[in-house]
Amino acid sequence: MSELPKSLAARQAERRRRQRRRQKRNRAIFLLVCFIAIIVLIIVAISSCIHRLSSKSDNDTVEVSPTPITSIEPTAEPQALNGIPLPSEENDLLKIIEAADENGGVKTCYLTFDDGPSSEVTASILDTLRRYNVKATFFEVGSIIKSNPDMARRVFEEGHLIANHSQSHNYDNLYASESSFINEVQKAEDAITTVCGEAPKMKLFRFPGGSYNAGDHASEKQTYKKTLADAGYYYIDWNSLTGDAEGRTKNAEELLGYLQSNIDTDYSAVVLMHDASTKKATAEALASVIEYLMSEGYTFKRLDEIDYHPSSTSSSSSSSSTEITDEEEYLTDDDEDYMSEDEEYSDEEEDYDSSSSNTSSGGAILATQAPGSTTRTSVDGKSVTQRSTQ
Ligand SMILES: [Zn+2]
Repeated sequence: MSELPKSLAARQAERRRRQRRRQKRNRAIFLLVCFIAIIVLIIVAISSCIHRLSSKSDNDTVEVSPTPITSIEPTAEPQALNGIPLPSEENDLLKIIEAADENGGVKTCYLTFDDGPSSEVTASILDTLRRYNVKATFFEVGSIIKSNPDMARRVFEEGHLIANHSQSHNYDNLYASESSFINEVQKAEDAITTVCGEAPKMKLFRFPGGSYNAGDHASEKQTYKKTLADAGYYYIDWNSLTGDAEGRTKNAEELLGYLQSNIDTDYSAVVLMHDASTKKATAEALASVIEYLMSEGYTFKRLDEIDYHPSSTSSSSSSSSTEITDEEEYLTDDDEDYMSEDEEYSDEEEDYDSSSSNTSSGGAILATQAPGSTTRTSVDGKSVTQRSTQ
């Protein structure tokens, strides 16, 4: 009788053993599955990291490769500032200023400084402008902005307009072809946009050497005026100057005297000056220049603040003659140049009286100013001639 319960107990013990074995096996299978799942997850994570890294380096390669600029980006939506004509209608800003005068605008002075920014001279000019609460326009060179971005930023932050004066200021590079011209304008515009943190509201260019139809690269410049218009750019020369880049070096007093001799104070004035590192006399003269212009009844504005009365635009279609004649008195342009290779300012290039032909600015264009009331027509109608010594 004791056999039976014994065998029952043995069977039960055997069942429990099997059950334990089964549980053990299941646990082992579960752990194995978990282990495999973890391995798979690790493999997926590693491969996705590798993929991301390799695609990033592909992108980097694309960014590094040079992308030639073949066109100037037009303004997204052309908009007339202060009601002035669009560049497609008229992109010579001096003509627009003359039209504003004739339409009853307030006589205005637009101080312009080319070829900067430079550390000391630009800083001194900014100090003086601030003292008199005068806003001005700085036609800066892209490569110079790149080497002195802090000063360019200061110009912008103190409320002045930074406009485009090409990337290199090297005439032979800039005017070599339409594509090199476009490339330089776009690069300089990019430099301005980067340093200001925003694109200028007005796209404005000043031709290094002026836009006159005379001298070296004259015919190319006439073509590029249209190139600029198509890209939404205005351009502007000047109708008065202190002569700080003309002939022999002048002291501050002489610069003021030179301006007084060529400005027509009956009308708005676009005054050419320079803030390159060698133009200390310009900085020294500025206070007396501003006081003189104030005494003549001028108010001062940036070139994107033209007081325009759109009701009458007749004079904007005035003569665009590009004939060259000669006259008795000369105004010079900013015929300085830069060394394109090291992008450093070259003092030698200012030696206009030298007979050396080592500069691309040798063909400095001299615009004449007719005496008296004919001054204002000097840019279009006025005579231009070429310096005899190159
Ligand atoms: Zn210049």
